[in-house]
Amino acid sequence: MTVDNYIGGEWRPPASGRRVPSTNPARRSETVGFAPDSDRADLEAAVAAADSARRAWRKLAGAQRGALLFKAADLLESRMEEIGRAMTREMGKTIGEAKGETARGAAILRYYAGEGMRPVGDVIPSTDADALMYTTRVPLGVVGVISPWNFPVAIPLWKIAPALIYGNTVVWKPAIETAVTAALVMECFHAAGFPAGVLNMVMGDGAVIGQGIAEHPGIHGVTFTGSNAVGKRVGQIALARGAKYQLEMGGKNPIVVAADADLDLAAEATISGGLRSTGQKCTATSRVIVVRDVYEPFKEKLLAKIKSLRIGDGLDADTWLGPCASQKQYETVLEYIRKGREEGAELLVGGERPGDPALADGFFVSPAVFDRVTAGMTIAREEIFGPVLALMEARDLEEAIELANDTDFGLSASLYTRDLANALTFARESEAGLVRVNAETAGVELQAPFGGMKGSSSHSREQGQAAIEFFTEIKTVFVKP
Ligand code: NAD
Repeated sequence: MTVDNYIGGEWRPPASGRRVPSTNPARRSETVGFAPDSDRADLEAAVAAADSARRAWRKLAGAQRGALLFKAADLLESRMEEIGRAMTREMGKTIGEAKGETARGAAILRYYAGEGMRPVGDVIPSTDADALMYTTRVPLGVVGVISPWNFPVAIPLWKIAPALIYGNTVVWKPAIETAVTAALVMECFHAAGFPAGVLNMVMGDGAVIGQGIAEHPGIHGVTFTGSNAVGKRVGQIALARGAKYQLEMGGKNPIVVAADADLDLAAEATISGGLRSTGQKCTATSRVIVVRDVYEPFKEKLLAKIKSLRIGDGLDADTWLGPCASQKQYETVLEYIRKGREEGAELLVGGERPGDPALADGFFVSPAVFDRVTAGMTIAREEIFGPVLALMEARDLEEAIELANDTDFGLSASLYTRDLANALTFARESEAGLVRVNAETAGVELQAPFGGMKGSSSHSREQGQAAIEFFTEIKTVFVKP
């Protein structure tokens, strides 16, 4: 598929005429599509289209905007198989996960379609008995959306849907690695009949189009999900020109296994939380902190289960673990494995290319478990974004919580225990935006706030009703008849 930009309600080739291939990480010789390598002229056209659409769009009733989101949701759902396959071919996650993500995308659209009819604002009693004083919410104007490749449907939609329902128009820069998936999502919006210019998509290099969005004076708010290095830069640029910004970035998420935990469930949650999507989730479990009394039996169960995971092309129904999403990710993972060994952690299993010759052409790494990891090691501190687990021993729950919090990040944290007092202590003490007890590190249901503390986020929240905080401003009105 040759992908074009989508600007002002039309598919347009990039002004430069240049395109870059999107390839299959399970078979690097296979090209899935060609993405536009746009330049600033394309971004200018998209911002102009979004700007000219915004006054009419904000005047519509929320329910009218919602009706279009409902249509887009139906279309997305009807193309779940096709979009799921494109996602698997472009970034490697299993087809089950890819279709699940697409279904979630439809649910996100429906949730925000409904938000168009929910109350906003308050009536505030005035000291003047004749006056009416109230607050309402108004859109920011044009919102720039910069999204990563690891959830190429759900993440952009949980930004685009609230942006649109609250009356903003959007310029979206998807990750170029998942260009075909993004174009299929855009086709659903096109077919749903959104007015021209309300949602625009421009693809290109992050340093050109992404940075261009952060810098553009015609973009009133920038919402970004991606790495910390890029996010901080985007935030600084937006702040310097007085634009609103929202950053969701990396994680170094701990699971804590208490002495009274169900060890089988904890091992399954460690594997699912840490290795689904090949560990390429911002909420992926990466530090496995186990209380001393159960360290050895837990480790045994974990290793037994890991050895049974089937690695392969995500399109094969029996694959559990796909490849790393790109050569860059693959090389980064191998480098962290090298560093882990160099710094003295013991590699118990995995961390190498699987022997199967059918996988020789892909970016596969067998899931790695490091033993005896200590808090100062690089693999305990930096986000790896791959199938690597670091086992750490704690004297007791108190020390385990200290270790869990000993990180620059604060996205998701999990505890396995059968003791309610432990659960409540962990919930209170955890320095993470998403705390989960007897559930793996992960995101949350779409109606609940999602976001991180410390270096994981700019401290705003996505999802649910919390999204209104970023995508609108409060207007206070005083009316004296
Ligand atoms: P990335 O930071 O490399 O890219 C994210 C987006 O930013 C892409 O669209 C990219 O093209 C763009 N970009 C790149 N350089 C830019 C620049 N100079 N200016 C503006 N934009 C630029 O991240 P990635 O590798 O695509 O995604 C993986 C990262 O995303 C991980 O760190 C992961 O933890 C994080 N992530 C966070 C969440 C969350 O909600 N907290 C969710 C998913 C992924």
